[in-house]
Amino acid sequence: MFQSVSTLTGVGPKAMEQLNQMGIDTIQDLFEYFPFRYEDHAIRPITEVQHDERVTLQGKVHSEPDLRFFGKKKSRLSVRVLVDGLLVQAIFFNQPYLKKQINLGDLLVFSGKLDRNRLAITGGTVKPKTVERENGLEPVYSVKADIKVQMLKKLIDQAFKQYGQTISEILPEQLLATYRLMERKAALYHLHFPADINTFQQAKRRMIYEELLLFQMKMQLFRKKRREEEKGQEKSFSEKKISMFIEKLPFPLTGAQNRVLKEILADLHSSYRMNRLLQGDVGSGKTIIAAISLYANVLSGYQGALMVPTEILAEQHVESLQELFVGMDIRIAQLSGSAKAKERRKTLQNLSDGTINIIVGTHALIQEGVDFANLGFVITDEQHRFGVEQRRVLKTKGLQPDVMFMTATPIPRTLAISAFGDMDVSTIDEMPKGRKPVKTHWANHDKLPRVIDFMKKELVKGHQIYVICPLIEESEKLDVQNAIDLHHQLSQVLADTSVGLMHGRLHHDEKDATMSAFANNEKQILVSTTVVEVGVNVPNATMMVIYDADRFGLSQLHQLRGRVGRGSEQAHCILLANPKTDVGKERMTIMTETNDGFELSQRDLELRGPGDFFGVKQSGLPQFKIADIVEDYRVLEIARQDAAKLVNSSAFWSSEDYRMLRETLEKQGAFRESKFD
Ligand code: ADP
Ligand code: MG
Repeated sequence: MFQSVSTLTGVGPKAMEQLNQMGIDTIQDLFEYFPFRYEDHAIRPITEVQHDERVTLQGKVHSEPDLRFFGKKKSRLSVRVLVDGLLVQAIFFNQPYLKKQINLGDLLVFSGKLDRNRLAITGGTVKPKTVERENGLEPVYSVKADIKVQMLKKLIDQAFKQYGQTISEILPEQLLATYRLMERKAALYHLHFPADINTFQQAKRRMIYEELLLFQMKMQLFRKKRREEEKGQEKSFSEKKISMFIEKLPFPLTGAQNRVLKEILADLHSSYRMNRLLQGDVGSGKTIIAAISLYANVLSGYQGALMVPTEILAEQHVESLQELFVGMDIRIAQLSGSAKAKERRKTLQNLSDGTINIIVGTHALIQEGVDFANLGFVITDEQHRFGVEQRRVLKTKGLQPDVMFMTATPIPRTLAISAFGDMDVSTIDEMPKGRKPVKTHWANHDKLPRVIDFMKKELVKGHQIYVICPLIEESEKLDVQNAIDLHHQLSQVLADTSVGLMHGRLHHDEKDATMSAFANNEKQILVSTTVVEVGVNVPNATMMVIYDADRFGLSQLHQLRGRVGRGSEQAHCILLANPKTDVGKERMTIMTETNDGFELSQRDLELRGPGDFFGVKQSGLPQFKIADIVEDYRVLEIARQDAAKLVNSSAFWSSEDYRMLRETLEKQGAFRESKFD
């Protein structure tokens, strides 16, 4: 199994090198080099085939093949074939030799992707008429350069004959029995040589579970190791003072808030360093949880830092913290980029001598030159994860504070547990009582006059309105609405209303002035780009109109929508969009159907696939050989629970039943590495 592929006949140094490039070093790698798809050779009537679907067709050659060369080695051969009474154009790239093999009047079996609109098969391959079509499944492998598919198949076949018997089971009997999983040896075999569709599916199911379990085991082991080794400060604070603080709040905490607070406070108490993700939909009440945790941290005698993405948000947080801690001996300050040098020096001084208890600011907070007396807790709001760089800076300062990230970008659970699997995750999955969900409507741009009427009605009720558009000013390239023009138009159409304009290019003071004018209802409409996206809180705003809504991501639309519906009145969000594609239409429909950020992101993920969702590079998502975290998210969830149980069981660590699993994980470095650093 762990022998080199060079032990197989036909693998010389050159082939070896190319196999290595494909990630195949050992016989085991070869066994686990799964087909990336299976071609269905069952010939189907063309009327049943969907657009873009891969299919095998059979028909009579109806024209002489037309062969054209372009570039040095490239060619395109096209031929018309009569299939089920329809003339289909079949296009074969870079297979010029087919011209000799395809003759007028021949019966041709060929496969490729169907373009329904052009009634064409693209990327075609010709199938020998003798292919075994009973089970219909032929594995398709991705290959490189000189390693041809046929050769790879032969190698795999040879490997099974020579080494197949050495494939041993790595999952414990108990799991095999619980999920009725196919034995490993058989599963590997049937993925390469599917006997029939049912056996194939069982084989696939088994290997998907194995892959996800191993992945989750690694995550859980890293996490366990980190909790044991990364020691932080053991904080002690009076529980009574915390409960008294909570009792004074104008509202009771929701069940979910109470639950996550407990988790966070337990982390603060304990001796390991907190590394926690707090996720909760827009408006679920994360700020108050941050405030209470910071309070506990201050009570233990440490300083806390709250990092936010923008200065506007920093100001809002300072204000709400000051309100919450009014009359208490807790000093809160903002470290602002726009502060005067003298003021800034004073703030830095107060930070380093411990006068300040809680500091709020952008990520500049923890950069070089900012010294704390005793930093104990860092909370990051609405930001992507705390980078390795920030950790390094903290370390150079000799600090090991507890760390928590808050996010309202609802990461679908499946992604959260993959990408953040080694973190502890707390989720606020419940909204405060009495909230009326925002009603979302989707309209084409030509319905604008009716939308304006709707706006007038809201204005008559004394309510305020956000109007969002994608651009700041007119662009030659993009035919989409821009804020400056729109501000001008609305000021004319709604002459007796005061319309504000907000965008990223305004000076800091102008932004502030506009924002507070809107917050004080001196301006009733705010035309803005997405700068209002995060955090901003104006409860009297009950309506949002989003121009060219199809240009925004679903998460972003949801964030924007979260700016309304913060008061007791029914709020509305109007999406103006003429999407051109089906996916575009589907996305608008999803927005009108759900207000739940988690459900929304799950559906967005299904629509786009995980790569697009995060942007592959920054995703930190592992590459799976056979599992698909979107399709297989239920299995992922189960594997996570199983893994969590296993790492904390004594059986896993000592029993003979688990020895193979332990050894496999050991070989994969699960007991050594850690995901970061
Ligand atoms: P987010 O999670 O989006 O940061 P916020 O923390 O800004 O949400 O909370 C949104 C609003 O809900 C705030 O005005 C806050 O005071 C209020 N709020 C928070 N928790 C509760 C609760 N348990 N009951 C009622 N209102 C709450
Ligand atoms: Mg918030």
